[in-house]
Amino acid sequence: MRQLIAGNWKMNGLLDEASAIVGPLRRGADGLGCDLLVCPPATMVMTVAHILVGSAVAVGGQDCHARPNGAHTGDVSARMLRDAGASWVILGHSERRADHGESDAAVRAKAAAAVAAGLTPIVCVGETEAERAAGRETAVVGAQLAGSLPEGFAGVVAYEPVWAIGTGRTATEADVAAMHAFIRDELVRLLGAAGAGVRILYGGSVKPSNAAALLAVPEVGGALVGGASLNAADFLAIAQAAR
Ligand code: PGA
Repeated sequence: MRQLIAGNWKMNGLLDEASAIVGPLRRGADGLGCDLLVCPPATMVMTVAHILVGSAVAVGGQDCHARPNGAHTGDVSARMLRDAGASWVILGHSERRADHGESDAAVRAKAAAAVAAGLTPIVCVGETEAERAAGRETAVVGAQLAGSLPEGFAGVVAYEPVWAIGTGRTATEADVAAMHAFIRDELVRLLGAAGAGVRILYGGSVKPSNAAALLAVPEVGGALVGGASLNAADFLAIAQAAR
């Protein structure tokens, strides 16, 4: 399966900066051997989707509400993201789990809502530094998978060790290989045969200099890129390292 290189802009980017990133991506995406996705802040999903119409680059949101509409001030539903031109949504990112107290059950409900609205969810999992130091990384990630994936899940999983996000520290290739193999086994256990086809992205300080090595690790189905996705040349360089 083609690898997916997904850019998570987080709460960064105003309109002029967005067009400076997306224009080169549109031109650079042709002929890449991987799938390319950008996830701008909700305010820019529609504009970025317009710029990318007819291109090989897909657009996603960074979160959605579990309900299709209603009295939820400040929230954005999966249907609204779809309506704005998104086809993907990142869910359960560790920053949302930490900043907004998102539980596995909340992530699971959002993932089900995303699928119902026609979006493909990217469900994020990953242990903290303290959890890894205590040898609990697979227990933590296993519990997150079991709690966050709705029945019949047909999206993407992103493994993002919290201590590697935005820190410049990446997991070693051996750590990534071990965790991705564990996640694959869990996906097959939870989802049956369908679990074998779920792409598992790695995320956490992916940049042009380490992308080729990380993307070559078995069971790595792509990358979820934060900081380096704010620079079109860096993001395209990462995509060129993909298969
Ligand atoms: P980073 O972020 O690439 O800046 O470490 C990754 C993410 O949080 O998705």
